Amino acid sequence: MADDAASEDPLSPDEAFAALGNETRVRILRVLGDEDDPLSFSALYDEMEMRDSGQFNYHLDKLVGHFVRKTEEGYELDRAGRRIVEAILSGAVTDDVAVDRTPIDEQCDICGSPVEATWNDGGINLYCTECDGRYDHNHRRNRGSAEGYLGTLLLPPAGLRDRSADAAAQAAWTRTNLEILSMASGLCPRCSATIETKRHVCTDHGATGESCSACGGYYAVSVGFQCTNCIFSSGGAGVLALLSNTDLLDFLTDHGHNPVDPDSVRAVNELQMNYEERILAEDPFEAEFTFRADDETLTLTVDGDLSVVDSVRER
Ligand SMILES: [Zn+2]
Ligand SMILES: [Zn+2]
Ligand SMILES: [Zn+2]
Repeated sequence: MADDAASEDPLSPDEAFAALGNETRVRILRVLGDEDDPLSFSALYDEMEMRDSGQFNYHLDKLVGHFVRKTEEGYELDRAGRRIVEAILSGAVTDDVAVDRTPIDEQCDICGSPVEATWNDGGINLYCTECDGRYDHNHRRNRGSAEGYLGTLLLPPAGLRDRSADAAAQAAWTRTNLEILSMASGLCPRCSATIETKRHVCTDHGATGESCSACGGYYAVSVGFQCTNCIFSSGGAGVLALLSNTDLLDFLTDHGHNPVDPDSVRAVNELQMNYEERILAEDPFEAEFTFRADDETLTLTVDGDLSVVDSVRER
């Protein structure tokens, strides 16, 4: 029976793209995605407003068993079909918007000057209005204008919907934190496979509080994340590996900061990204990161895997 997807051979990625490489099939998925209940053949056909029922039948047939499930009540999306519709809708709402540099309620973490944001190619780009920013060769491919460039936060076009530039930036920060929590927990935020965490230590690191001419970072200890399955990779300051640590999460929430609340996310980032770093030993590696909130400090000691081995809170 066609509704038993498990009995079908799974599609190869090439076959899956081929099955979707047709406007009618994509439209069938979108129509079914709008429905809470399964649609009968005739109700689906009516919704499609097609003249040729043979053509309609042919394309529907290509989807059944892979993206569409046929049940006694009619046709509905299966899990893969839902994922496709979600992906289409994340980009469809405000596709190809270009947003000029717009002031947002944020200060440059290098010089404290006002920050402006643009949106392009699925991300919010942040720029300092005064200093040179953090021109990073890793981000060069994204940039039209690099002047004052501070970084890019991923935000699909739908993330701009009904939001001011400022609210969109907060949403992008929140989304970024959710992804970092996933990476710090060892899960790829795209495909859920295991993430490999690699520690890098700059051996020629410049003075603290300035970006280092050797590594370009503010901290000597940095982390790289690489998915063991898909092409996803990310990285940054060493603290990113610790964001799912419960002592750090306790410390944040005890001081009124919630890392996944858009209204709180800037204060959280400021606290997380302004820490003191101290390398205690090279081999075996040991380092201390000290965070400060109000009149309290939290010091986390990490080993060579950037796992927390000790935690001290002091007033
Ligand atoms: Zn600046
Ligand atoms: Zn360095
Ligand atoms: Zn992955």
